[in-house]
Amino acid sequence: MSVSQIISRYNLISDRRHTRSLGQNFLIDEDVLNRIASACVGHDKASLSGYDFVEIGPGPCGLTIALAQMVGDNTKIVCIEKDETLRNLHRDISKEYQQINFIYEDALFVDIVDITDRDVVLFGNLPYNVGTKILMHFISKKNRIKRSVFMLQKEVVDRICAECNTKDYGYLSIMCQLLCDVRKLFDVDCSAFYPKPKVVSSVVELVPKPVDYDMINNVQYLVKACFENRRKTLFNVLRKILAKDLVESAVPHSLLKSRPEVLSPSDYLALAQKLID
Ligand code: SAM
Repeated sequence: MSVSQIISRYNLISDRRHTRSLGQNFLIDEDVLNRIASACVGHDKASLSGYDFVEIGPGPCGLTIALAQMVGDNTKIVCIEKDETLRNLHRDISKEYQQINFIYEDALFVDIVDITDRDVVLFGNLPYNVGTKILMHFISKKNRIKRSVFMLQKEVVDRICAECNTKDYGYLSIMCQLLCDVRKLFDVDCSAFYPKPKVVSSVVELVPKPVDYDMINNVQYLVKACFENRRKTLFNVLRKILAKDLVESAVPHSLLKSRPEVLSPSDYLALAQKLID
């Protein structure tokens, strides 16, 4: 059965208010579903036996089934879905694909360590309204996620991957790039969805780096303060949260009058380390 047939057979778009509040724009284009599933599998198919896959927001399971068909019966896929009205559909799907399991919870309250003690590939076509929050919830703590593949609004993916000194660069770029190696994979046109969203989407891969998560919390505080006032100079924003002599000793004199976007993610890390020492 195609995803479009699943959507109509289970009457998934009957209440638009309900589906809109959950960001339910479902992927119906089989090519796109297969491309994202391949990106989840990655290049090293042989190592699949070591991983569980965890999906955020399976909805009608187009992506889940595309992945299940690629990885085979021995690889477990756990799906976290907030919308309990999808239970009947999911029951039918797990009869056919027994490696797929469902958990009905808000992903923002789920910890990967409570789902599996194996290494994880995390993936999902994230709901637009809480996509960034869900992404940060999972990547900003120590767990066994080895790789994430997410679809988000293009504009958000551009911010995740932006380099310093560009208009898209900011809090999201710095935090994601400190925590992970990030790589934009491809764009997805609105026509691949039902109902069609108003914006283009993109798929991004994030591979966690070894980091000191306590230090990352300090960087987060610093970066938030800087980018709440991105038009102000570094000296002026930092002066609000730190003593003047500390700011002057930690930031090179030549940069004090520059804007926060001139510092790279590793500059922010170095700055946080200096300030904490
Ligand atoms: N994976 C499907 C696809 O690609 O067609 C559906 C993607 S749809 C954009 C987002 C999915 O996330 C919906 O199924 C929605 O119910 C679910 N969802 C929304 N908010 C959620 C949350 N906080 N936690 C878990 N799932 C959520």
